[in-house]
Amino acid sequence: MTANVKEIEIPKKPLPLIGEIQTMYHVGKFIFKKPVTVQYPEEKGDIPERFRYRIFLSPESCIGCTLCQQICPNHSIKMEVWDLSSQNTGAHAIKTARGVRENAQNKRHLYPDVNFGTCTVCRNCEEICPTNAIYLTHEFETARTRNSFTYSPQELTMQEKDVIK
Ligand code: SF4
Ligand code: SF4
Repeated sequence: MTANVKEIEIPKKPLPLIGEIQTMYHVGKFIFKKPVTVQYPEEKGDIPERFRYRIFLSPESCIGCTLCQQICPNHSIKMEVWDLSSQNTGAHAIKTARGVRENAQNKRHLYPDVNFGTCTVCRNCEEICPTNAIYLTHEFETARTRNSFTYSPQELTMQEKDVIK
């Protein structure tokens, strides 16, 4: 009785010189190309059009309806009391999904804050907001040294460079 043993083909090793030429060819292909990396933060790469991160708030458009808080899947939004009446932003005309609304007010002075430590940038808050008061932007440089990742309603209105880190 003979054993049915298959012969195993051992791949032939290329000649050492051919391997070196192949390596030099592959290195040479990239040597004159522009690097794909950038020297961040001095240089900044192109941001894709659909990229989104830092949330902003237009308090003059917010009517305190709390829908953004309710839709947020991981409780990153809480409503805070912020009395803006002294800044005369209480009554005005704002554009809503159902047309322009005159003398819209935030009677309870409730505005959203956002915890960027848990926000997953899902954009639910922006989509549900009836007045486009809360929206995501291309801003992404939110690194900070303080303990809290929560932006108060007031901080959500500020440019990133003005927020206390
Ligand atoms: S930001 Fe929009 S959804 Fe949130 S409370 Fe204000 S109006 Fe309502
Ligand atoms: S984008 Fe962030 S804050 Fe807005 S609903 Fe999604 S997780 Fe919540």
